[in-house]
Amino acid sequence: MRPAAQFCFVLFLFRFLLLASDHTTIIEGECPEPERETVIRIVEAQEELLAKTLQTEFGIPLRIVFCRDLADFRNRTGARIWHGGQYSHGIITLQRLTVLQEQGILETTLRHEVAHAMLESLAGPKAPRWLMEGLAVILSEDLSLMAADASQACSFSRLEEELHSSDRGRVQAAYSRLAINARNLVDHCGWLRLHQALSALHRGVDTPLQTMLGECGMLEFYSRPPGG
Ligand SMILES: [Zn+2]
Repeated sequence: MRPAAQFCFVLFLFRFLLLASDHTTIIEGECPEPERETVIRIVEAQEELLAKTLQTEFGIPLRIVFCRDLADFRNRTGARIWHGGQYSHGIITLQRLTVLQEQGILETTLRHEVAHAMLESLAGPKAPRWLMEGLAVILSEDLSLMAADASQACSFSRLEEELHSSDRGRVQAAYSRLAINARNLVDHCGWLRLHQALSALHRGVDTPLQTMLGECGMLEFYSRPPGG
């Protein structure tokens, strides 16, 4: 092979490896075939949909961990038993596969957590939880969380507190309210402006978000984070 051709081949290989590593999904824990293939398909479809919706590239390699049992899930996440999964630092930790299948929540849980991964890559790990949860619910079209009897409009910090309630009904109502708020923002301002507001949050700037909340009549429910 001539030197120029060798150089082009190396470039091609490098680019191929870069693209392949961008979309690597590693599955750990008990997840035999054909479920393994199903999980990869759900994750990739959600990544593709989110990339179009949020007009961004998805560049995080994801690790998906299926826990052995409830105790293992609680130890790893600290989440309550009704949660199907949790995203943190590139890792989606899920309840045991059979538990998610029996409850019929494998797909919505995966889609919700992939949405968190995508949103965090845009807005950074310090983005407000009320916004991330509301957007994750509408981006995963989780009807079970949207259908709950939503609480009256109240401050976002109060809704974040409700997410920690030991009462499942109150938690679901908070999720529904957050989803309504997120939908309101998207319908009024569009995904492009939301993308810009999330990118600004990553830089520690919340002015675009405040402007959008003002236009939607929701600024009164927002308070800047301490030190923000
Ligand atoms: Zn969530």
